[in-house]
Amino acid sequence: ELTGARARAWLLAFADRVVADADELTELDRQAGDGDFGWNISSALKRARTGLEESGAQDPAEVFQAVSDAFLASGGTSGPLFGLWFGRLGAGPSAPWSVADLGRAFETATGAVRRLGKAEVGHKTMVDAMAPAAEALTSAETHSWREAVRGAARAARAGADSTSGMIAHRGRASYLGERVQEVLDPGAVSVAWFFEAAEGA
Ligand code: ADP
Ligand code: MG
Ligand code: MG
Repeated sequence: ELTGARARAWLLAFADRVVADADELTELDRQAGDGDFGWNISSALKRARTGLEESGAQDPAEVFQAVSDAFLASGGTSGPLFGLWFGRLGAGPSAPWSVADLGRAFETATGAVRRLGKAEVGHKTMVDAMAPAAEALTSAETHSWREAVRGAARAARAGADSTSGMIAHRGRASYLGERVQEVLDPGAVSVAWFFEAAEGA
């Protein structure tokens, strides 16, 4: 199950990964966008990290809400989209979350991002990693947190990898069409990192 303490450890591990490897995201966005994604996401997560280190959140929802607030105060197209995703998670149930709770929360949150961004799977965006991870969680036939997040991480990684080969239909990469078809979508890569960070939490 997902407790407040585990949610905090998860988000701190995600923040550390993004801050350490921000250059990789920047390079992808430099190739297929405007090169600010690594900075946008790492500055939001640095703000979130400061808040989380000081917070004694007992509920996963509180942790996600703190991260949402940090993204909503940050720039780029990704700021409001991640702000919404984490904000919907922040409206999840109180106390520990079961695997079923996780599935419902990520399904709702991903639906909100799809509507706001008008992005579907195959459009070469963060949704290409979010949607399969949510699907893996909702269809998980396990009550084990560890097994469930392993499945979500694999699905998110496969989704992120699949963006190499896609022609973008949303975001700046869509202006470049097939010239950047082979470039991974940095938003989707960061979502894979997010679910991978859960595996150690
Ligand atoms: P900007 O283009 O404003 O610089 P960022 O660099 O902050 O945006 O974020 C780029 C990421 O945002 C992309 O890698 C992609 O995953 C995501 N993205 C862009 N547009 C959309 C959209 N309409 N729906 C979902 N995700 C999107
Ligand atoms: Mg950008
Ligand atoms: Mg920008």
